[in-house]
Amino acid sequence: MGSPKLPVLLLPHPLILLPTARVTLPISRSLADAILSLLDDSDAVLAAIPLPAPDSPSEVTYGTAARIARLVRPRNQSSPTQPYLLSLHGIQRIRFPTPTQIDQSETLPVHNIVYPSSEGIPSRDTVEAFKHAALVLLDRLAKDSPQPQRKDDWVRVSAIVEDISEQRAAWMADVLVAAVSSQYPDKLAFLAATDVEDRLRCATELFIKQSSIQEVSKKIASAVDESLSRQQKEYFLRQQLAAIQRELQSLQSSPASVGTGFGTGGSTSELDDDDQADADDLADLRRKIEALDVGSEERKVGIREWRRLKRIPQGSVENGVIRSYLEWLTSVPWPSNKTTTPLDVLKDRSFLTRARAQLDADHYGLDQIKRRLMEYLAVVRLRAIADAAQTQAQGNTPSTDTSPGATPTPPTKSKGVKGPILLFVGPPGTGKTSLGQSIAKALGRPFQRISLGGVRDEAEIRGHRRTYVASGPGSIVQALRKAGRNDPVILLDEVDKVGHSNFHGDPAAALLEVLDPEQNHSFNDHYINVPIDLSQVLFICTSNTLDTISAPLLDRCEVVELSGYTYDEKMHIAKRFLLPKQICANGLSDSQLTLTDDALLHVATMYTREAGVRSLERAIGAVVRFKAVEWAEWLDKGNGAVGGEGNANENAIAKQNANEKQDGNASENGVGKEWRATVEPHELEKILGIPRWDGEERDREEKRGVVYGLVVTGMGEGGILPVESTALPGTGRLKLTGSLGDVIKESGEIALSWVKTHAFELGITAGRGVDPLKVPDVIDVHLHLPAGAQKKDGPSAGIAMICAFVSLLSGACVPKDIAMTGEITLRGRVTPVGGIRMKVLGAHRAQIRKVILPWANRKDVEHDVALEVRREMQFFFVRTIDEALEAAFGRGALGWRKETVLLESRL
Ligand code: ADP
Repeated sequence: MGSPKLPVLLLPHPLILLPTARVTLPISRSLADAILSLLDDSDAVLAAIPLPAPDSPSEVTYGTAARIARLVRPRNQSSPTQPYLLSLHGIQRIRFPTPTQIDQSETLPVHNIVYPSSEGIPSRDTVEAFKHAALVLLDRLAKDSPQPQRKDDWVRVSAIVEDISEQRAAWMADVLVAAVSSQYPDKLAFLAATDVEDRLRCATELFIKQSSIQEVSKKIASAVDESLSRQQKEYFLRQQLAAIQRELQSLQSSPASVGTGFGTGGSTSELDDDDQADADDLADLRRKIEALDVGSEERKVGIREWRRLKRIPQGSVENGVIRSYLEWLTSVPWPSNKTTTPLDVLKDRSFLTRARAQLDADHYGLDQIKRRLMEYLAVVRLRAIADAAQTQAQGNTPSTDTSPGATPTPPTKSKGVKGPILLFVGPPGTGKTSLGQSIAKALGRPFQRISLGGVRDEAEIRGHRRTYVASGPGSIVQALRKAGRNDPVILLDEVDKVGHSNFHGDPAAALLEVLDPEQNHSFNDHYINVPIDLSQVLFICTSNTLDTISAPLLDRCEVVELSGYTYDEKMHIAKRFLLPKQICANGLSDSQLTLTDDALLHVATMYTREAGVRSLERAIGAVVRFKAVEWAEWLDKGNGAVGGEGNANENAIAKQNANEKQDGNASENGVGKEWRATVEPHELEKILGIPRWDGEERDREEKRGVVYGLVVTGMGEGGILPVESTALPGTGRLKLTGSLGDVIKESGEIALSWVKTHAFELGITAGRGVDPLKVPDVIDVHLHLPAGAQKKDGPSAGIAMICAFVSLLSGACVPKDIAMTGEITLRGRVTPVGGIRMKVLGAHRAQIRKVILPWANRKDVEHDVALEVRREMQFFFVRTIDEALEAAFGRGALGWRKETVLLESRL
């Protein structure tokens, strides 16, 4: 018997028919005829051989014996060359005895074939591996399948695979490989795997490979899908927005067109308006960039950013960022858009007289400070004039003074009209800010204030880099933009409260750069990122104390101290400045309201206790507002006419009421028949509430172990502070409370040591060398400084502590109208302390009449304390603790043992 023969049908590349699978392909008429004649034979079986790829060897070895399932001519066959569709059903693998070249021109050539043996049972391991790989792939296919029906199909197939026997595993492999999509070479290799074991291994590899491909492609697909859907969403939302705007537009425009009676022809849409405004803005921006100095850094950056702006689509985030940058860049007052030259003001011969008049008009008193400011302004003026003369000599004259014969030379950098930087130090409300404003007015320059209190981040001064979201320039550039000129007066408020180096950078260092005349001609704001010349800016700093200002910063400033006002000065300020200001601010006129001197003094002494006048201004404001409401209510009751000639009536009525008040007929609540223009002290309680400081002096008690010290608070305000001590059973120790710092604690130790050493001489103990804390009773001494929430430190409470201890241990009391300050040494000396002016003023406000001060501070009192205060107070200047004790307790009050004092003085 010869080897079997079969007609060979070449499947066009990349078609493969696997056993158990079906394939349908279009064929030509001639091939269809040949197949039809084949069908006449009893077994219509073909050898379906995959045609090799065009660039691979043309010989073939493997194929599948296939039964012809169908041959049809579809009704609307589109391909005239291949009008038939042939369906084949794969039955079994076959191979040629040797690799064979098939003649493609022949129709169904007949070739010898071999049916490879499909017997044999694969090993268990191979089957298990196959099953596992197949199940993983099926699971993934089920998960990834978008249609629920297909998902179910894959799940069902999984169930079959799980239960498949080892004998049927090879068949299952054929079914699965035919069903899942895989690469052509893999399928070809699978077709060639005639051995059962090989076939299963081949299928396992194919499944594993397919699973991972499936997984990766799923990931890619979902990533692509996500980005696409975001874009689609954005597009969709933008469309909606545009539609909403259109609707709104039509709503707004329709009534107008109805109202005017004209059609829509003449009216332009609001959207168009927006577009127009936008175009105008852009044109404006462009003009501003063009106006920048040719060749300057700012112009180069401006042009570069403008070009970027043009490239980026409108409406995008980046576009907005660049636009706002350009708006900032062009609004900085660069030398090119400087509007006026301040030189005219400075050159004017009457400049100093007018400046003096300005300072006097804005502030009462402050004579020394005004004198200092005049010096300062004179220096600014002289420097400016010298600077201008120098520039003129170089031929680079300012536009106003161009001399015709001058030869043009390249422009030199102006040195700037700078004097030293002023630093106003003083408690709140003493006029630091308003002095700065007066200087600006005198110089005819804009005034800007930058508050540095609590600035922790360097970027607040220097700006954020543009890479930050919502970045912007720092406060210096903002102030320059608001000023609109490159030579404003900038007040740096509260420089003592600026933060130091931290993880946000070092704001104090940034401030130094701003204030340093060597560096500030090219100040670099991180946002603007083009050096800005600050050398024309006049900086003035303010602060409450000098303690927390860094040494380098202090070094650049000239300190001007404002210590506070006496009651007399406050009265003048209130009458001349604060009251008229508040009356005007609250819509009344001078004739409609008067506060008697007594009432003003009552407000100042009973409702405020401060060095400055801010609380006083607030309290006066409250009184004026109260009266304004009364006035309005009185008018509403039909008592007067508002506006026009009504004013005359009002005045008349006010006067009449003032007269009535004198008769004592005034109504008590003020909102009645009469309205009174004058405020008396007794009315203040009704308006301002219970006096805050009433009776403080009366409450001060003369008590054993209690004396009054003088302090300066962190705000730079002077005042008095009780130093309390008490004895309690204990072990002979000192206990200190009241939120005290190290230095003040040490002062306490020194004071107690001194008292213990001199206890015998002071008459506290009966014998020399006896510890007054141990004999007769063993006691602890507790020293407390009230207002525990405030941190206290410094050595100046030394003599107050000594007096407190001596009073406690000896039983003698210090009168309650005495307050004291002074540092002590163990040897009994009293050494000088700071803040004398504020302390004395504080004591004066607190109605202390006698003050004990170190001898070395004598000059401070003479120089700094106003004469009227000095007249009202008695000063004791002491060199030693002995003198201090004598001043505090009075001569002879303590039981001094004289001989020891003599001994001491010889030491
Ligand atoms: P500071 O900056 O020192 O805290 P301000 O300059 O804000 O204080 O002053 C507070 C108020 O007190 C301002 O209305 C100011 O005009 C007023 N003032 C302070 N000192 C005087 C003075 N000597 N003469 C007139 N008004 C003053």
